[in-house]
Amino acid sequence: MMLVDGITYIHEHTTIDLSYVKGNSDTLLRHFEATVAEYRALYTKGVRNIVDVTTLGMHRDAQYVAEVARASGMNILQATGFYTQKFYAPFEPWFSQCEAKEIAEVMHKEIAEGLDGTTIKPQIIGEIGTSKDGWTPLEQKLFEAAVMVHRESCLPIATHCTLGTFAQEQMAFFQERGVELTRVMLGHIDLKGDLDYTLRLLEQGVYIGFDTIGKENYLPDSQRIAMLKAIEARGYIGQVMLSMDITRQSHLKVFGGIGYSYLLDTFVPKALEAGLSQRAITQMLRDNPQQFFGKG
Ligand SMILES: [Zn+2]
Repeated sequence: MMLVDGITYIHEHTTIDLSYVKGNSDTLLRHFEATVAEYRALYTKGVRNIVDVTTLGMHRDAQYVAEVARASGMNILQATGFYTQKFYAPFEPWFSQCEAKEIAEVMHKEIAEGLDGTTIKPQIIGEIGTSKDGWTPLEQKLFEAAVMVHRESCLPIATHCTLGTFAQEQMAFFQERGVELTRVMLGHIDLKGDLDYTLRLLEQGVYIGFDTIGKENYLPDSQRIAMLKAIEARGYIGQVMLSMDITRQSHLKVFGGIGYSYLLDTFVPKALEAGLSQRAITQMLRDNPQQFFGKG
């Protein structure tokens, strides 16, 4: 199953645990009732798909996600992959010692058999990550593996660019290996806060995520909106997709956070008021994800 017609949040984590690396219990997100309630609320606002890019090393739990999907009515697409180097720790020393093709084998097996002991098949590779302003040899090995898996499975690829950095290099890596950039979404590009940098990516035909909407401690939404207006004016809005990348329990409404509906209830009205067109909003939320997944 691919996407259902409707709005898609392109980069989320239904449950995630980064606390064993970050040492902060807030980065353990696993609240079944609260998440179901928020996903149901999204459903009433026209959201039909959530792309869950939780990988191995983030305590991915495919069965749990399937239960949230069933309880909320949301179509949740799941992922295969690994994240950034700090999160390879549970797989060491294997991860350091193995060949890229052995990492690819792990992902192939998940595609063939299912995730986390279920028969649920991943529908995207990612979020595969690079560090801030560069990548480690192990991260590069993961990217090599992801290309192998993409070639064989035709699944699209979602990446993590730490604070929006190293996107140009990620893109060049895929280009050099003949991966169609229309099958790649570079994640967290909004966080760079740099319009020229963003346009240079879009000119090559790649998809990008403005997927940290509402994280104003990193970047004010007014800046995201200003960049989106300029992207629309240059004719590249067809390559931008939106999401919030909710990863902390304090992001949930029940814990006082802005919640998943912030994107639709607060950000979209602000963007429209600032002059972004309704057509651009519809493209980013509905049409672009359909195209991104539809080209398999
Ligand atoms: Zn990320």
